[in-house]
Amino acid sequence: MKNVCLAHNCIKCCLKTQMPLTDSDIRKISGLGFKNFFEVNKIGMRQLRNYKEKCTFHNGKICKIYNSRPTGCRLYPAVFDEFENNVILDNYCPFREEFLLTTSISEKVIELLKELDENKGK
Ligand code: SF4
Repeated sequence: MKNVCLAHNCIKCCLKTQMPLTDSDIRKISGLGFKNFFEVNKIGMRQLRNYKEKCTFHNGKICKIYNSRPTGCRLYPAVFDEFENNVILDNYCPFREEFLLTTSISEKVIELLKELDENKGK
């Protein structure tokens, strides 16, 4: 986990996750031998599956695929806000003010958004 998350012993964004996955996320995680770790949501996007209200890869203490975690997990709490039409630090993260939102992170979020859009409906 990121230093901020560890410092606060927080796993909030791993609970009831709706993290969308790109083709490359799925390839990478499948390559580790995992199956049935995603589902298709209402808008045709593949997202991480939950088990007992936690991300299927989180055992309550650690993320089992931390080094291969999806791009969206790496970038969070940076997300694209449709109302602001901009990248922001998500209000859902209680410690968002402790994260830095750099230009590079914002650009990566925009790239992720494009990739997810291209992958939709696959
Ligand atoms: S909600 Fe924020 S502080 Fe908590 S685990 Fe997620 S990114 Fe880290």
